Amino acid sequence: MPKEAINSPRPPVYVIQANVPDAQPLPYYKIAPDTYFFFGNIAEVDGVNRGFNGNAGFVVTRDGVLVLDALGTPSLGRRMIAAIREVTSQPIRYLVISHAHPDHYFGASAFADIPDIRIISHAGTEDYVYTPTIERSVAYRKVFLPREMYHFHAVVPDLLIGGGNPAHVSVKLGGKTFEIYDTGSHHSHGDLVMWQKEDRILWISDLAFNGRVTFIGDGHVNEIDAMQDWIDKKFPDVGLMVPGHGAPQTAPFPMVSNTRRYVDTLTEKIRAAILQGQSLQDAVRMSGIKEFESWPLYELNHWINANFVYQTLEQELF
Ligand SMILES: [Zn+2]
Repeated sequence: MPKEAINSPRPPVYVIQANVPDAQPLPYYKIAPDTYFFFGNIAEVDGVNRGFNGNAGFVVTRDGVLVLDALGTPSLGRRMIAAIREVTSQPIRYLVISHAHPDHYFGASAFADIPDIRIISHAGTEDYVYTPTIERSVAYRKVFLPREMYHFHAVVPDLLIGGGNPAHVSVKLGGKTFEIYDTGSHHSHGDLVMWQKEDRILWISDLAFNGRVTFIGDGHVNEIDAMQDWIDKKFPDVGLMVPGHGAPQTAPFPMVSNTRRYVDTLTEKIRAAILQGQSLQDAVRMSGIKEFESWPLYELNHWINANFVYQTLEQELF
């Protein structure tokens, strides 16, 4: 693990051992007063990270704990709880799920049985629970992570944001204010950001990726720029931005402009290819972006991203 999480130039390469008991706390960083961070590996889910390939965090207040995201398996969720118990005996009062992709959501099963916990998520999470996509993701993980997926069930949130529900919820807990906002479906079936007001920390989930190529296989790619503009205007005094993947970052937040440049370049290339009448295969093959070729997860994600963007734009253009 790197020494510091904030602005860390390199991500952790943390091996999750298959036989470690769930009572063993997951490693964590203190990134601000009362604020703790689980720093996931930069990778696809595999036998090394065993689902610890995204970030999560928690905030301790005098009236209880709020948790943001639950990582990729019930086992990791249980190890998050063990870490929280190492820091505080305060009850866990809230779990906020930024969106329902497995790396942020599948650990929620571990939290669901905590007495009086409230689980907050986008209305899209509830939609996602009934799609074949989640069945496939669960089946895939159960094959090589059977122990970690033990006791998995698709958690349905108690409090929904967006999709006809309020677009914004304010949670007050032990002198801290957590403003949670619907940011549409730029990345998934429904995405949230959370503003930890007094501490000026913005949890942006997968609105920008730090130190890796983004994943675009879901949601609406066209909304990314608009949502990035929105956080820029809405939160002019952010002190620390915490993404769903990669290190937390201080101003001027290059991860936001990097993600945007990647998305915009890809979109422009694909749009031009469609307008020239190129087939999906040709457009994807010609869509390489030199600047990002050496970035982590480029080889794995770029061609999937190009595919998805082609299909999205094709529908829009014709
Ligand atoms: Zn993610």
